[in-house]
Amino acid sequence: MRNELLAWFAREGLVLTSVVMESDEPEEDEVKITIKAPLIALSRASSDFRECPDPVLFGYPEEALEMMNLDDMHQFISTWFEKAVEAGMGRCFVCNRLLDMGEEKPWDAVFVSTELYCWLLVHFDCKRYLNRDLKGRHPFEVIAQPPEFFDLTV
Ligand SMILES: [Zn+2]
Repeated sequence: MRNELLAWFAREGLVLTSVVMESDEPEEDEVKITIKAPLIALSRASSDFRECPDPVLFGYPEEALEMMNLDDMHQFISTWFEKAVEAGMGRCFVCNRLLDMGEEKPWDAVFVSTELYCWLLVHFDCKRYLNRDLKGRHPFEVIAQPPEFFDLTV
């Protein structure tokens, strides 16, 4: 992830920090600090977590991040998710059914901030079970792959 995007998340207060003592020896107080930006999940499977796409790498102007607020980021992520669903890659985080762009089972891209910071896809009807399915997820145990590249220009 580019430092500019990480800095943007830090500005929005969305970077998690983990501090771990590296050594058991009390006199060696080396600590390891890990930081984690928000993730996106194409499904609940551990292999389906992605790093947050960087708007600038998807065609936004270089200075766009400075002007974007969190709502703009939600909008950008929603567009990315729509492309992923069109490509047959998005599943409901709760029921794990494959999503499509049809009208039948409407879904939403939501940003969760319990347990971890993550955008995910969920049916409207499944939302009430979301907290149950997020329980016990530890952000520092999730290995995220780079996001797929979609053409987001209209
Ligand atoms: Zn569902």
